[in-house]
Amino acid sequence: MKILSVNCGSSSLKFQMYEMPEKEVLISGNFERIGLENSFYSYKINGEKTKKEASLPNHGEAVKILVQELLDNNIVNSLDEIKGIGHRVVQGADKFDRTVIIDESVKETISELSKLAPLHNPAALIGINAFEQYVKDATATAVFDTAFHQTMKEEQYIYALPYDWYTKYGIRKYGAHGTSHKYITKYMQDYFKENKKLIICHIGSGGSITAVKDGKCVDTSMGFTPNAGIVMGTRCGDIDASIIPFMIDNGLTSKDIDTAINKESGLKGITGGISDSRDIEDGIKEGNKKCILAQKLFVRSVVNYIAKYYVLLNGADAIIFTAGIGENSPETRMQIMESLSSLGIKGDNEANNSRGKFTKISSSDSTVECFVVPTNEELMIAEDTYELVK
Ligand code: AMP
Repeated sequence: MKILSVNCGSSSLKFQMYEMPEKEVLISGNFERIGLENSFYSYKINGEKTKKEASLPNHGEAVKILVQELLDNNIVNSLDEIKGIGHRVVQGADKFDRTVIIDESVKETISELSKLAPLHNPAALIGINAFEQYVKDATATAVFDTAFHQTMKEEQYIYALPYDWYTKYGIRKYGAHGTSHKYITKYMQDYFKENKKLIICHIGSGGSITAVKDGKCVDTSMGFTPNAGIVMGTRCGDIDASIIPFMIDNGLTSKDIDTAINKESGLKGITGGISDSRDIEDGIKEGNKKCILAQKLFVRSVVNYIAKYYVLLNGADAIIFTAGIGENSPETRMQIMESLSSLGIKGDNEANNSRGKFTKISSSDSTVECFVVPTNEELMIAEDTYELVK
């Protein structure tokens, strides 16, 4: 059965088509600079990449081109072979605790939730509507990045703020990266053949740490928005909230602050411009003091969450590293494991020298097993969609 996994951003559309249940990727690609000049798209079939320039005034035009490419490349002979389309939706708040088939009321709720994700939910809706126009027979599903975290108890998700901020404005922790955390949880269930206590470190340009017990999220580091938690590429993570009114009193607008804490902070803020951890690692080798400081802050913020969740879970069976940094940076992983040595956690230098593939990286006498597990959000979207279509 052919299932399409879709991730729409405000100016992009990423897609991956699977043959399910075999999990075979038939085509993957990306439309970029939608609604802007110099737009283009690229796709990969059997490892062979094709890139084309195209006028992409809106997402509808991107979908129109995509379905034509599917036909021209014989990925499908007819569009009714596409049985399901799974759409990634960033914010489902407390309205959705699982993947759902999209109908008008689901669309209305996603639209209402745009106030919590003003950049992302409207883009997902544009994508959903565009596919409805061109691929009429497929069952469309919404896969929410917040759904996996809906199992958190109130004492984990509520902030110690006036309670009516929660009831009136919906201010609470929702978390993010749930599709990735769910994928890793399922992967480790398959590996251990049972549910274990997991601490999952999804660390890429954005990052979140999740505590998992009995296959369910107990707590996660991102909050009301993805800005909370660990230090990230350009986001500040946890800070003293009173800094915000202090800076407003110093002349910044709320928009200035929103930009500063989301786009100008984190590794980039500390170093004055370097947000990619590969460049930070290069800077450290050259003795750049700001890069050294940024890396220390980053590692400390991850270690603090792992330690916190180790206590919350009453011990952990496995710590998993995933996403761009988690999968590809042996140095960062080793620094994190070394900082956890007081818990009896020990990395294996040789095993840890691994990139982008499933590897056990802890030594045999480590109290907690540590792993690298490549995440696959697109496959998780396709699997959830396949289950609903089936
Ligand atoms: P993601 O958001 O999961 O795509 O992760 C992207 C981030 O992963 C990049 O910004 C880099 O900071 C990081 N990254 C990717 N490859 C490497 C690598 N080889 N070494 C260190 N960091 C890496």
